[in-house]
Amino acid sequence: MARIVMKFGGTSVANLERIYNVARHVKREVDAGHEVAVVVSAMSGKTNELVGWVENMPKVAGSNAPFYDAREYDAVVASGEQVTSGLLAIALQSMDINARSWQGWQVPIKTDNAHGAARILDIEGADIIRRMGEGQVAVIAGFQGLGPDNRMATLGRGGSDTSAVAIAAAVKAERCDIYTDVDGVYTTDPRIEPKARRLKKIAFEEMLEMASLGAKVLQVRSVELAMVHKVRTFVRSSFEDPDAPGMGDLLNPPGTLICDEDEIVEQEVVTGIAYAKDEAQISLRRLADRPGVSAAIFGPLAEAHINVDMIVQNISEDGSKTDMTFTVPSGDVDKALKVLSDNKEKIGYDVAQSESGLVKVSVIGIGMRSHAGVAASAFRALADKGINIKAITTSEIKISILIDGPYAELAVRTLHSAYGLDKS
Ligand code: ADP
Ligand code: ASP
Ligand code: MG
Repeated sequence: MARIVMKFGGTSVANLERIYNVARHVKREVDAGHEVAVVVSAMSGKTNELVGWVENMPKVAGSNAPFYDAREYDAVVASGEQVTSGLLAIALQSMDINARSWQGWQVPIKTDNAHGAARILDIEGADIIRRMGEGQVAVIAGFQGLGPDNRMATLGRGGSDTSAVAIAAAVKAERCDIYTDVDGVYTTDPRIEPKARRLKKIAFEEMLEMASLGAKVLQVRSVELAMVHKVRTFVRSSFEDPDAPGMGDLLNPPGTLICDEDEIVEQEVVTGIAYAKDEAQISLRRLADRPGVSAAIFGPLAEAHINVDMIVQNISEDGSKTDMTFTVPSGDVDKALKVLSDNKEKIGYDVAQSESGLVKVSVIGIGMRSHAGVAASAFRALADKGINIKAITTSEIKISILIDGPYAELAVRTLHSAYGLDKS
């Protein structure tokens, strides 16, 4: 007997038939004698619809009212998960399984006050653990928490993954299974590159990079929590027959295990390719080349909560003027340009130029730490396809390259094959 957390994403609970299918997966584990907590997302498309309603509420013409109140955003968007948690509990009960739904505030899953992108601070798991011990399945609404203001808080898009891993850590589960619409983590998004290979295992550090560089299969924060709390996390498919052979294997279920790098015997140099769309580049021309200029630019941007990513500064030709280029999410360009123009005197630049619709493609692998020439092969492969590179950043285990949007898929496939990741 083990304690298991099972999380089902939006496509896995997209309609009543799929919710029934999810209940069959849960039943398999219950029948095997395990204590089970389930975490569900909203039906696919639901959260987008709810966010759209919040964003499109008409305003009085000329109103200076803020965009919207983040606490009310949370009250609206958290509702999708309330529906699926109740429906799954009903489906389980129809199979004679003792099940009960839980909203984030009922657990409670306590978060900080960052409504819309809250972080989990603490989970009081005692009640759920007791009931699980009595044989009741806890069906928990993902994505939701309770803020210090005693109001509903949501965990940011994709946050149900984080709910699941955090609950697994809190109830000391043997395993956390993230069920989704693909049967594991692949060398790149299998929807873009059909030759992508499924990985048996991937190291926490690599998964963190993959997730933060655009592979949305897991929310970044969920990987951080799995790494810190050593939660044995698997990514697997809800679309397989729940009763197929091996599906109930306790130690080696089908899917991809996210684990410590020591657990991976054959470490490749490059493990995967990720991409992030909707990047934008801003260049400040003829900046004064003096101490404090970076602080003058990035300080106000940080205060405006604009996430700056790649930063490239030229060496000035004459020691007095230079150029600075950096990237921000496309949706933040106008806000960033406004902040820069408000601070133009203090920063001291000539013109600000911007370009949207760019894509960041990244090559990830722990093996890069001990191998030279990995970046050079990427540049060569992209050059051979005539893809122009706009900016580059590197770290110990990744290389990120900024390119024009229309080349995204070609670049992903080119790099995937250049590093020998294509399945034969
Ligand atoms: P869920 O609704 O279950 O949370 P998501 O849509 O958030 O599912 O994540 C699953 C999707 O992640 C897949 O459909 C796939 O297109 C995408 N994805 C991107 N990169 C990868 C990757 N390297 N491996 C697997 N899936 C990936
Ligand atoms: N329903 C939320 C979203 O679409 C959370 C999740 O599915 O993980 O972002
Ligand atoms: Mg997701």
